[in-house]
Amino acid sequence: MDIDALAEKIAAGDRRSLARAITLVESGRADHRADAVALLETLARKGDRRALRIGLSGTPGVGKSTFIEAFGMMLTARGLRVAVLAVDPSSARSGGSILGDKTRMERLSREPLAFIRPSPSQSQLGGVARRSREAVALCEAAGFDVVLVETVGVGQSETMVSEMTDLFLLLLAPAGGDELQGVKRGIMEMADMILVNKADGELKSTATRTCADYAGALRLLRKRPQDPEGFPKAMTVSAVEETGLEGAWDEMQALSDWRRENGFFDARRADQARYWFGEDVRNGLLARLMESGARARMAELGDAVAAGEMTATAAAEEMLAALKS
Ligand code: GDP
Repeated sequence: MDIDALAEKIAAGDRRSLARAITLVESGRADHRADAVALLETLARKGDRRALRIGLSGTPGVGKSTFIEAFGMMLTARGLRVAVLAVDPSSARSGGSILGDKTRMERLSREPLAFIRPSPSQSQLGGVARRSREAVALCEAAGFDVVLVETVGVGQSETMVSEMTDLFLLLLAPAGGDELQGVKRGIMEMADMILVNKADGELKSTATRTCADYAGALRLLRKRPQDPEGFPKAMTVSAVEETGLEGAWDEMQALSDWRRENGFFDARRADQARYWFGEDVRNGLLARLMESGARARMAELGDAVAAGEMTATAAAEEMLAALKS
């Protein structure tokens, strides 16, 4: 494969080459993997492209695809190029993704300035993360101004997405009663902005109240050094009526501009690169452990430990020594 030629085409904004490259990074074949690594290196060396990477999380039904379509259309109307990717941990189990589906974003998928790619399926969670992160890098190299990464609010996927994006948005629905919607503290702490969607019609006043509740909850969190005054912020939007979207975009830009000026933007990306390096090494070690020889040895040592023939400590030492080679 001519990696340099493919890199050139991607950098020139050729969409088919971008799609091909994403397929390449999603492949599990060893020769594809080698090409993918070389391609990502080549593009990283060009390295002058900077997209704003935005993560968006929310439970099914909260309005993610409706929001992304409306928000994406608003951005493309301003002449911005928008890529939409999805990280769907459920696809690792079911083999099919419920996110990033073009039929869910019909208008945006026809928009020449937009590029939509569903979540890769058929791989384990660690694989989904790596492939998504590499797809983000490819979209950035292809010159997109905004890369939106969508995920569902389950398990580890939020951490994963927040580690590959510059801003992390949490989309919530208006909630009856005054309880916060069981949003875990850890996720609140990750969010740069909370957007309460469906602030329209009968739901409008509930949305406003929900938004005030979350704004209060956010104020109780420890102030983060990477935030200017007033962040993290809660706002209401309506994806259907397309209201609040421009205001939300203004806030996102204000936040990212501030972080750029104060060095937090680059520092965060550096931390993320370090994080993914560690993750790749950890995942690689786990993969080695799952290789047939190592797995058999692991089972034997486990039996020896259970039978009291070896201590757990000694058995673990022996296993790790075997993995070193
Ligand atoms: P997703 O599962 O998070 O992607 O949610 P969808 O975008 O598919 O939306 C789920 C449902 O909520 C659909 O019936 C949408 O029409 C509806 N919905 C999405 N956004 C809004 C909104 O801003 N206002 C109202 N009233 N309904 C919305």
